[in-house]
Amino acid sequence: MTVSDLKNQISNLIKIQEFDYQIYSLSAKKADKPQEIKRLSDAFELKKQNLVLLEKQSLEIQKQRKEKELELAANAEGIKKLSGQLFSLKTNKEFQTMQQQIADAKADGSVIEERILVSFEEADKIKAQIDSENIKLKEEEKIYLQQKKDVESSVKEIDDQLVQLETQRKQIIPEIDPKIFQEYERILSSREGLAIVPVEHNSCGGCHMLVPPQVINLIKMYSHIITCEVCNRILYIRE
Ligand SMILES: [Zn+2]
Repeated sequence: MTVSDLKNQISNLIKIQEFDYQIYSLSAKKADKPQEIKRLSDAFELKKQNLVLLEKQSLEIQKQRKEKELELAANAEGIKKLSGQLFSLKTNKEFQTMQQQIADAKADGSVIEERILVSFEEADKIKAQIDSENIKLKEEEKIYLQQKKDVESSVKEIDDQLVQLETQRKQIIPEIDPKIFQEYERILSSREGLAIVPVEHNSCGGCHMLVPPQVINLIKMYSHIITCEVCNRILYIRE
């Protein structure tokens, strides 16, 4: 390969590298998007926790009320039974004792009734909280869905750009010697999307390690492709 051939090859590699670096960066950006959506969805799920808690409380109140209602029915049944026995008693003392028992049972019943009333008030309060939480969540859901849509459309934009870049890079490939191109692609895939880098201030533009003067001289000779001794990227010097 003549000096001008190699110069030409390197200039084509620089051209294709510009596209490939954009492709690499955009692909990395795209690869982050599913996680971004997951983060949004997790944050939204977390906002539902309060509602879940309130609904649990509401069910617990209903369950406790059912128990109290059963208790009240049993209490009423007991009072009925005692009242029925009242007039079959023989002594005045027995009569008074049973009357006291009935009064005590009625007092217990009032306490249970009071508890049931309170539980209705509590249920109303929770219901109001659930309603307002639902309204809040509807708003949150709207925001979440919009954010998700934005991320999805940015993925689509990236895809469109990638198709364009791929088309542009394909046009350069026939201009590059197949062996050199193979080497370039090998480095590209193992070196974060950068296969050919300029020497700047006597350092490699990829790994920033010093490039020895004799290597710089070799690059200037254009007799063959020179790579960085540290990161193996192809080196060139800006004209
Ligand atoms: Zn290097």
